[in-house]
Amino acid sequence: KHLIMPEFLDNTVAEFPGNIALIFQGYKMTYAELHEAVGRFAAALKQLGIKKGDSVAILLPNVIPCVVAYHAALKLGAVVVMNNPLYSDRELTHQFNDSNSKVLITLDLLAHRMVKLRKKTTVQKIVYTSIGDYLPFAKRLLFPLVAKKRGLVADVKPAKDLFKFKDLLSRHEPDHTMADIGFEDTAMYQYTGGTTGVSKGVVLTHANLSCQVQQLEAWFPHFQRGKEVILGALPFFHVFGMSTSMNFAIYMGLGNILVPKPRPDALLETITRFKPTFAPLVPTMYIGILNHPDLARSDLTSLKGCFSGSAPLPMDVINQFQDCTGSIIVEGYGLTETTPVTHVNPFHGKRKPGSIGLPITDVECRIVDMEKGDIDLPPGESGELLIRGPQVMKEYLNRPDETRKVLTADGWLHTGDVARMDDEGYFYIVDRIKDVVLSGGYNVYPREIEEVLYRHPDVVDAGCVGIPHETRGESIKAFLVLKKGAHLTPKEVIDFCKGKLATYKLPVAVEIREELPKSTVGKILKKDLKRE
Ligand code: ATP
Repeated sequence: KHLIMPEFLDNTVAEFPGNIALIFQGYKMTYAELHEAVGRFAAALKQLGIKKGDSVAILLPNVIPCVVAYHAALKLGAVVVMNNPLYSDRELTHQFNDSNSKVLITLDLLAHRMVKLRKKTTVQKIVYTSIGDYLPFAKRLLFPLVAKKRGLVADVKPAKDLFKFKDLLSRHEPDHTMADIGFEDTAMYQYTGGTTGVSKGVVLTHANLSCQVQQLEAWFPHFQRGKEVILGALPFFHVFGMSTSMNFAIYMGLGNILVPKPRPDALLETITRFKPTFAPLVPTMYIGILNHPDLARSDLTSLKGCFSGSAPLPMDVINQFQDCTGSIIVEGYGLTETTPVTHVNPFHGKRKPGSIGLPITDVECRIVDMEKGDIDLPPGESGELLIRGPQVMKEYLNRPDETRKVLTADGWLHTGDVARMDDEGYFYIVDRIKDVVLSGGYNVYPREIEEVLYRHPDVVDAGCVGIPHETRGESIKAFLVLKKGAHLTPKEVIDFCKGKLATYKLPVAVEIREELPKSTVGKILKKDLKRE
């Protein structure tokens, strides 16, 4: 369908006006109410000077205004720039300026900081919202007390070029006129996680967003429009949560339970209380749930299907989670540059643990020789994964050289990942090219060592990186987090790996930590470990 997200929202509202669209801490908003709020905020943004092609920055966790602002901006043909509320001033300054963002929508708690930061950036106007704005009646009354007790009082008032989200909604009548938006027009600048380097703005078109949700629908054919309820725990400012929770729910008319702080206790409580049927999560969230003391008294049986991506999901975690919830986890794969999903294991049909599954509808893949480049490799051999499909980005913003490095003239995206395909067409991620360690002339894939370490019953988290070695060039150091109360010496860890890995792959150093540095979607930040 050559329709864009704002048109999908219109269709969903026409089909399911009374369906619950969003649930936030018990506060419920129907699709008709969401549509009205989007229309009001679109009118407000217009009055703030936003027109087609202007950038609108959103700096919010998963709260109702985040969904409203995102879809209002798209409706105007503006370019949405999603930002992580935990980012530092330096990171935000880079993203606001690089994207030329004019209006910023944020939380009241961040408003003073953003007003100061505004001077260094292209941002002119700021809109702020409060967590207390959308809560069930009783909780809303209590909110000022709770906020005071937790030291979360924002003490911010509207001023020149500083507006309150709810005031703007009440001041404007809904404007449902849609800008003249082409399918190939830019919809977003979505910044990469920066796991491996500087965060780049990925230019995603309306076609990218639209095709991705349609691909997900085609891949999950048993999902009934208007029936399922999604656990919206992945941050919407990250492309994985944005597509698989926020946009997919709106396209399909599903309920979406917003979880602004997806800690394991909040996930367990939310699933038990609101009974989602589908949960896209990342490996650290599954691991956190399985290791939480509340697991035994939680009820996760509403879940029919879970989706994991963004980092490798250890096989033991798949099995344990399925045993204790009865829900299937399908592992998938993608990148910011592909909006993001390109591969998923089938819900019905053969699932292969350890594999990222099959390319989804309309995705083409190649595995090419890493040294020689354009030579396709046969099944079973590892090389770089290349992807072509309707969800592949247009380009990197302001970085033509970087774009040329990864995107060929005929549309193939170099993923930077080493992968192989088996005889049945299932794909396996071996590792990131940037993480490969060269030890004594051999390529060592840290992920293979991590998989072995995860098999140890006391290991909760494992990250391996290359460290300098006098004779071999590089060798492996393992960083581990252990189960509470467990003790392991480095020698015990290395002995555990012996016999399971060739000698040149064995870690030469092991460090046990309380936690490992991770991105907001739970990826171990190897560059930080390496830098140390
Ligand atoms: P940057 O690209 O800036 O370094 P990032 O890693 O956070 O940051 P993303 O686009 O969020 O960027 O992540 C894409 C990468 O995540 C893929 O290239 C791949 O290495 C990894 N990845 C995604 N899904 C999986 C998976 N199921 N198994 C292993 N790795 C995965």
